[in-house]
Amino acid sequence: MSNLDIQAIRAAFPILKREVNGKPLVYLDNGATTQKPQVVIDAILNYYTDMNSNVHRGVHYLSQISTDAFEVTRRKVQEFIHAKHDYEIIITKGTTDSINLVSTCYGGAFIHEGDEVIISAMEHHSNIVPWQMLCEAKGAKLQVIPMKESGELDMDAYRSLLNANTKLVSVNYVSNALGTINPVKEIIDLAHAAGAVVLIDAAQAIQHIKIDVQELDVDFLVFSGHKMYGPTGVGVLYGKEELLNKMPPYQGGGDMIKDVTFEKTTYNELPFKFEAGTPNIEAGITLNAAIDFINDLGIDNIKAYEDELLAYATEKLSEVEGIRFIGTAKEKSSVISFVVDGTHPYDIGVILDKLGIAVRTGHHCAQPVMDQFHIPGTVRASLAVYNTKEEIDALVAGVKRAVAMLV
Ligand code: PMP
Repeated sequence: MSNLDIQAIRAAFPILKREVNGKPLVYLDNGATTQKPQVVIDAILNYYTDMNSNVHRGVHYLSQISTDAFEVTRRKVQEFIHAKHDYEIIITKGTTDSINLVSTCYGGAFIHEGDEVIISAMEHHSNIVPWQMLCEAKGAKLQVIPMKESGELDMDAYRSLLNANTKLVSVNYVSNALGTINPVKEIIDLAHAAGAVVLIDAAQAIQHIKIDVQELDVDFLVFSGHKMYGPTGVGVLYGKEELLNKMPPYQGGGDMIKDVTFEKTTYNELPFKFEAGTPNIEAGITLNAAIDFINDLGIDNIKAYEDELLAYATEKLSEVEGIRFIGTAKEKSSVISFVVDGTHPYDIGVILDKLGIAVRTGHHCAQPVMDQFHIPGTVRASLAVYNTKEEIDALVAGVKRAVAMLV
C-alpha cells in the first residue's frame, strides 16, 4: 500500500474540486498535461506580483532576483536528474523544442550522407519528424526498431540494426500511447558499443520514474515542464558537456553571444549558447516549485502508488466486454490504452466527457503505433499521483455505460 496521503495531495490541486457537465471532474488525461498544484499557481502569481523582470540583462534588483530564481531552477533540474554540471541543463520551450535543438545542432553538424539514425516504432511524432527532416536534408537513413504485439521493442532487431554507420539513437523512455517502459540502459549501452550517441525522450517518464543521467550514461535527455505538474512553455535539454560544447548554437540572438560585431560574433558559454532571446521566465522560475512538489512526495512513492493504480485499472477494465488493451508490456507506467469491439474510441471519449471523465482519444501523436495495430486510435486513460481507485471505478462504470449505448 502507498504511504502517500492522496486526499491531502488532491486538496493541493484546486482544479480537482470543479465539476464538468454537472459531475465531479475525473481527470485521466495526464499524459497530455498534468494539473498544477497550488504551490505552482502561487509561484506564477508571485513571479508577476513581486519579481517580474527580464533575466540575465539588468543590473537592477528585480532583474537580479529573477535571474537568480531562473538559475535556481537550473540547479534544481541538475539535482533532480543528477547531472554533473548545471550548465549541462538547457532551458527550452519543451520536449519538442529540445529534440529539434539536438536534431538541428548535433545532427546538422555530425550526421552526414550515408549515416544512420535509429528511432523506434513507438515514438511520439516529435521524436520522428525532426529526424526524418534531418535525414532527408542530409541523405542519411532513418531506421526503426520494430515493436512486438505486446508493445515492447524487439531488442534483437535493435541489435541487428546497429552498425558502424549508426550515429544516433533516439527513443522514448515511456511510450505515451502504450505506457511501455523501454529498457533504456540496455539501449544506451548497445548504442555506445556501436559508437552512437543516444537521446532519451523522457516526456512520459520524468514525472513517474527516478532518472539519473550519469548512471544511465545518456548523452541527451529531454522533457517538458507541463507534464510534471509544472507550467507550459518550458522544458529541458540535458546534454553531456563535451557534446554540447562541440555543437554549434541553435538560434541566433540576444544572450547566446559573447561579442557581436558586423564582422564576427563569438558565442556565449554553456548553457547560454543554446538559450537565445528572452526565455519563458515565468515558467522557467516556477518549474522549480513543480520539482519541489515531486521531491516532497518522493518519486519512488509516486511510482509505487501509480503502479498500484495502473494494476487496479487494468484489472477492473478487463471486466468490460469486448475490451482489447493496446500495449500489454510487462513493464508499464501510468498509461492504459484500449479499444472496445464495435465502438469508435472517439464515441467512448464523448460519452465519458458527458460524465465528467477526461480521457484522450485518437492516435496520441503516434500514428505509426495505431497503424501497426490496425486501429484508428485508442481511448487512453493516463494517471497522475492525485488519481484514486474511486476515479478508476467511475471510469470503468462510464466505459461500460458507453459500450451499452454504442454496441
Ligand atoms: N514525447 C512524448 C513521449 C510525449 O508524450 C510528448 C507529449 N505528448 C512529447 C514528446 C512532446 O511534448 P511537448 O508537446 O511538451 O513538446
